[in-house]
Amino acid sequence: MARYTGAVCRHCRREGLKLFLKGERCYTDKCAIERRNYPPGEHGQARPKFSEYSIQLREKQKLRRIYGVLERQFRRYFAMADRGRGVTGETLLQLLERRFDNIVYRLGFATSRAEARQLVRHGHFRVNGRKVDVPSYLVRPGDTITVRERSRQVARIREALELAQRRGVPEWLEVSAEAFAGSVKALPARADLTMPINEKLVVELYSK
Ligand code: SF4
Repeated sequence: MARYTGAVCRHCRREGLKLFLKGERCYTDKCAIERRNYPPGEHGQARPKFSEYSIQLREKQKLRRIYGVLERQFRRYFAMADRGRGVTGETLLQLLERRFDNIVYRLGFATSRAEARQLVRHGHFRVNGRKVDVPSYLVRPGDTITVRERSRQVARIREALELAQRRGVPEWLEVSAEAFAGSVKALPARADLTMPINEKLVVELYSK
């Protein structure tokens, strides 16, 4: 599976905000946004000019990078959202939130979505008792996610659960750290997603 392997802090600096791509480091003063809050590259500190297109593009890139999804797959999500019955932008956000790697991260079994993706690929989790090792698997309300019995000693998962207690778990999910299990109570409503994203700009960009 193709994925971006470059320096991810550049993404945050480009967007001018914390996208929380690096786990615990994002909560420390080593965060690149705390140290150099200007876009990367030679002209990073130049005064930027914003066209309508560039604003829409930045919003799309921001969303794509938060969830670690490449352009082709992101377009596929958009097409699915566009075909759906609801508001396209909100459905798009819901689809991204339903990704299995995102759910593992949100439940606190990983410190970042990138780490969650790797743990999922390594087969540490089960959905409704069945092994799922596909990060893009879309979970549904009522699904139960558990850490595989012999993975419960994995240091990364245990440390992530400790860190998650500080971060908290969204209301639409439920987790029991002692049981290494969590469940999806409902799909997230727009108000549950507090990231600074204007999904309407993404819809406008793809509707040109
Ligand atoms: Fe972004 Fe985290 Fe890097 Fe800070 S440490 S710039 S929040 S990825």
